[in-house]
Amino acid sequence: MNLTELGGEFAFIQRIARKPKSAEVIAGIGDDCAVVRIDEHTLHLYTVDMLVEGDHFSRAYFTPYDVGVKCMESNVSDIAAMGGQVLYGLISIAFPDDISIDFLDELYRGMYEVADRYEFDIIGGDTTHAERMVVCITLVGKTSPSRLKLRSMAEPGDLIAVSGPLGGAAAGLRLLQEGIAGYTEVKRYHTTPRCSMNQLDRIVPIAKAMEDVSDGLASEVRNICMASGVGARLTRENIPLCEGICETAVLLRDDPYDYALFGGEDFKLVYTVTPDHYNRIVGSVVGEITAGTDIVLDKEKLTRFGYDHFAPNRINGGVP
Ligand code: ADP
Ligand code: MG
Repeated sequence: MNLTELGGEFAFIQRIARKPKSAEVIAGIGDDCAVVRIDEHTLHLYTVDMLVEGDHFSRAYFTPYDVGVKCMESNVSDIAAMGGQVLYGLISIAFPDDISIDFLDELYRGMYEVADRYEFDIIGGDTTHAERMVVCITLVGKTSPSRLKLRSMAEPGDLIAVSGPLGGAAAGLRLLQEGIAGYTEVKRYHTTPRCSMNQLDRIVPIAKAMEDVSDGLASEVRNICMASGVGARLTRENIPLCEGICETAVLLRDDPYDYALFGGEDFKLVYTVTPDHYNRIVGSVVGEITAGTDIVLDKEKLTRFGYDHFAPNRINGGVP
């Protein structure tokens, strides 16, 4: 049996996950970051993400600076999803012989720019050789018990909000895959995303469950529902779409809402709030948490979810 037959990335992670033995581990495998208690007021957050050339980025249409920005923003997004701030980063890179020093300088320019934006230091890493370029970033972050947001904190009656427009990254990828000229702004959603860390101080006081949108809104809502033991109802027309992606969808005969629901890599936050916080919501309300386990889009039960590197029917198909 291979990973596709097993049911993809999600099924694999469920298969290998174990309950942590240490009482200090508040969340292990299964959330955006692992959470470890340091003292009564301090929790540390740990996240690692790997970007592989050909799967996550292509040198054909990513500048090395873009690769650096995207790797870093996507990792910072996981720390934001826990209600945290970044403390330190460690960078591991593997690259083939044909990578130039200029390429690596530009890669690090992108990574340092993001580290400066969120005010943390890069304090270590590893360098080695590979046939295809791989960038693997580990971030250590910090939060407090009162700011911590877990996927398991949603309850029936909560509203589901997203911190910003979605679908841009998938629309940009489609344009790049199809080799279509122009549409620079839409392509940029894919190559140089910006996470929602800067909105966190307004979101943390009202959010209950939270997650970042790395695999598509449908997938993230499913994760929150599974972790919280609840269902959800989403309203398609309330999903905010990134500017310019409707034109892309018309051109490529796609549904722009599919970009938002099943595309991923938008790195916005999806979070739940009690209805009494409606006026303080940052972004848009896209649905509500329900009792039961079904995830319903308008009136239809959802049966497909977001991007999965090993799923038999991935909608984006990765970067060629
Ligand atoms: P995200 O999209 O938020 O980065 P992932 O989907 O990559 O999260 O991972 C989901 C959870 O599974 C996380 O808690 C992550 O740490 C864990 N995980 C992913 N791959 C592995 C692995 N190979 N071994 C152990 N834990 C893993
Ligand atoms: Mg995440």
